[in-house]
Amino acid sequence: MILDAVLARIDETLPQSIDRLMELLRIPSISTDPAYRADCARAADWLVKDLESLGFSARAAATPGHPMVVGHGGEGGRHILFYGHYDVQPVDPLDLWDRPPFDPEVQQTPKGRVIRARGASDDKGQLMTFVEACRAWKAVHGALPGKLTIFLEGEEESGSPSLIPFMRDNAAELTAGLALICDTSMVSPGVPSIAGQLRGMLKEEFTLHGPRIDLHSGHYGGPALNPLREIARIIASFHDDRGRVAVEGFYDGVHEVPEALKRQWESCGFDEKDYLESVGFTRPHGEAGYSTLEQQWARPTLEINGLWGGYQGAGSKTVIPAEAHCKITCRLVGDMDPADLRRKLRAHVEARLPQDARITWDGHLDGAPAAVMDTSRPEFEAARQALSDEWQREAVIVGMGGSIPIARYFKDILGMDAMLIGFANDDDAIHSPNEKYDVASFHKGIRSWARILARIA
Ligand SMILES: [Zn+2]
Repeated sequence: MILDAVLARIDETLPQSIDRLMELLRIPSISTDPAYRADCARAADWLVKDLESLGFSARAAATPGHPMVVGHGGEGGRHILFYGHYDVQPVDPLDLWDRPPFDPEVQQTPKGRVIRARGASDDKGQLMTFVEACRAWKAVHGALPGKLTIFLEGEEESGSPSLIPFMRDNAAELTAGLALICDTSMVSPGVPSIAGQLRGMLKEEFTLHGPRIDLHSGHYGGPALNPLREIARIIASFHDDRGRVAVEGFYDGVHEVPEALKRQWESCGFDEKDYLESVGFTRPHGEAGYSTLEQQWARPTLEINGLWGGYQGAGSKTVIPAEAHCKITCRLVGDMDPADLRRKLRAHVEARLPQDARITWDGHLDGAPAAVMDTSRPEFEAARQALSDEWQREAVIVGMGGSIPIARYFKDILGMDAMLIGFANDDDAIHSPNEKYDVASFHKGIRSWARILARIA
């Protein structure tokens, strides 16, 4: 059996695979800090060399920011692109790390062996699962499993400023039949997960203006319009008392979760009690009538992220402030249209303005619709079977509460569907001190890609 030989090779050479990951982890490729620019370039070059050793023709393509690594290799079958990122988050606060963040170490913990270093999980360990699967395949067969493009970004942790222009300029060579993305976690430890939907995002910020200047609350208190009172009234009108957003038309484009998918989610091993209790809740506080997972993955939200105005210093000040401010973000699902939603949200606020008050809308014009994967593609079922075989646990198609813009860009710019499969765990401490990646995630992640490639490449 071809696959069995590849899996055996992966098991035998795991120590060398870990050594190579450690080498990459020693390079402090912090993309947001200009002091590490040369290190980002060094990480890109390291990856180019490694891909070349597997027979890829690879390059570190210069951008105004950090280089993009692009490698092409193999032939035959369906053209598949793999995406990951080699840059990492800053390490501060450094004193909370148990060891230097760029001096990786394999450690024994009560939950098993882990690789401890910045980037171990997000995303160097994850991206190397795919590279190592290719290496084992190549070693056993002398060739890659099919036509593959590997695309590794160096600016994911700093807002991806070069990504869209680079994708546009290099669309022809980056467009494949399907994109695989390895930058997500499993819904619970040991439960292999494929992300079927990611929520989108809309940002707004506004100022409610009242009197021309701050007023004395004795001279004007009573006759004066108080912007803080008015903004509180408007914000209170955003939700009804069952947690539903009361902005007219807010739910246009939102679809109910199909029963079959709901059942999959119910049996995916998600620990609701732990999820809630870990942050001090005894029950979910979202829309009544929806489960905690639905509220997190499949329902839209309107959140107040900041609210301020008036006197904030020590003691008291008898003031009626001239302005009050508010920051809002919405998480979008289904076919909700950010531009349309922005109009509805603004109309809701403006319809509730009292006489003598006015609103200015302050920036944040970006918005992105939700990314809903085409899970009816045969590759999703093939990957689900491959993952179930490897983990001996039914793989699930999950939702994600957050947003991963790259999936959307692949669709919008390159017309390419994406499949997001990751092996991280929620306790990996990504972006935090003492980041780790389980050796089991790394090992079984490599084996998972070998199994998936055997079915879809
Ligand atoms: Zn990441």
